[in-house]
Amino acid sequence: MENRKVRLRFAPSPTGPLHIGGVRSALYNYLFAKKHGGDFILRIEDTDQNRYVEGAEAYIVKSLAWCGIHPDEGPGIGGEYTPYRQSERKELGVYQKYADQLVASGNAYYAFDTAEELDAMRKKLEIAKASIQQYSHATRGEMKNSLSLPEEEWKQKIANGEPFVVRLKVPAGEEIRFTDVIRGEVVFNSDVVDDKVLLKSDGMPTYHLAHIVDDVLMDITHAVRGEEWLPSAPSHILIYRYLGWEDKMPQYAHLPLLLKPDGNGKLSKRDGDRLGFSVFPLEWKDPSSGEISSGYRETGYFPEAVVNMLALLGWNMEGEKEIFSMEELIANFSFEHVHKAGAKFNPEKAKWFNEQYLKEKPDAELAELLKPILLKTFNDKEFKDEFVVEVCRMMKDRVTFVSEIATKGSFFFVSPNYTAENLAKISKTITEEAINAILDVIGRDITDAANLEASLKEVATAQNLKIGEFMKFLRISIVGELSGPGVPDLILLLGANEAKSRVGECWKLMN
Ligand code: GLU
Repeated sequence: MENRKVRLRFAPSPTGPLHIGGVRSALYNYLFAKKHGGDFILRIEDTDQNRYVEGAEAYIVKSLAWCGIHPDEGPGIGGEYTPYRQSERKELGVYQKYADQLVASGNAYYAFDTAEELDAMRKKLEIAKASIQQYSHATRGEMKNSLSLPEEEWKQKIANGEPFVVRLKVPAGEEIRFTDVIRGEVVFNSDVVDDKVLLKSDGMPTYHLAHIVDDVLMDITHAVRGEEWLPSAPSHILIYRYLGWEDKMPQYAHLPLLLKPDGNGKLSKRDGDRLGFSVFPLEWKDPSSGEISSGYRETGYFPEAVVNMLALLGWNMEGEKEIFSMEELIANFSFEHVHKAGAKFNPEKAKWFNEQYLKEKPDAELAELLKPILLKTFNDKEFKDEFVVEVCRMMKDRVTFVSEIATKGSFFFVSPNYTAENLAKISKTITEEAINAILDVIGRDITDAANLEASLKEVATAQNLKIGEFMKFLRISIVGELSGPGVPDLILLLGANEAKSRVGECWKLMN
């Protein structure tokens, strides 16, 4: 293992949009590969034709690209081990010979049971409360397979073209051990391991056989996958052993689950719908129902923020640091710091990450992102570039998404909508005389915010008004509510005419 080039693969099945848990698996694979100067491979595991979803592969490719996770090899990219789609590899006969080899060595067998027969077996086991309720050493003798039937009979079945699958023959009463990179030594008793199907009746390999053949043929050094695969690991260990590939076996690392915000089970799309957050990197339109699910990109997240957030869901470095660029993640990543326990997804923390990245973006870059949003929001009204840049500077630490600069900061672009509720917050002590004095100060075109503020406060003093009440009036008249950046800064940016008109309008509505 020491001398081999580090090679990791992300091997999704195109059965739907890539969930953020999948993105995290891809990311950890990528980080480890890049940290060790290795290769990151995208392999499409599309052997389950019944679950194939149109557009899912393209979605996966686009999502990884958006996140900045770039495969070195894969479908459409090429590489020494082309093709990287298992359906195409099956056509080339990549898997069949290994299934044959397992049968020939007595470690796998043909099984002819129909769906009804399998169902009946499961029901019987359920009623008997059997310790293993699947096809296994305990049941195979009563089923229709090449171990239970006389040789002529099963050979005849094959000759007659009866459908059959190839199953792994798992021995009874054995301890199966392996070392998981994250979990350490893992031990299973083979009595609870079922005889998994390796090759289906349509000649397609199952995941169990296909991933092993491909991991070996593609020279994969580390197989990093979700914890849901841990119960299948003993079957996989046996397949390696029976194919004589123990020395080629990659190191397995089973990643902790991504959990619901309350920690109660695996994070699902339904949680996102219920609690109002996305579980997909990009928007996804279900090809059969037409239903649209929101994506992080469309919500307004920066890919760097999503990557940073996902990296820290299950991995962390010692210390307080939470903001990591992709380069820093690569430099620091290790499986030693990946947790064994599931990681709770926290939608508020996701927003926090976006806020941190937004704050750090140059104003001009934010302005470029904001401009098309402004056109849409304000019916093609034009704003000067310098003005938009300045708005971004003033708003960037007050919003979670760029689009909120247009909504929360709408007062920069159109006059505020003075609600009765906000008008009611203004003190009745403000007089017409005070308004005229304010208009006079604004009209002096003072260009320095501190000077403008001092002059406005002088008005308050001269008019015997409490500073707090006075500033509240000014804020509501300029912004429409009691929030936003400093009022003198706003007056300077909006210009004297606009500011005066707002003060006048607000006063009018108060009376
Ligand atoms: N095709 C499997 C899945 O989508 C891959 C698991 C693995 O990485 O080995 O879950």
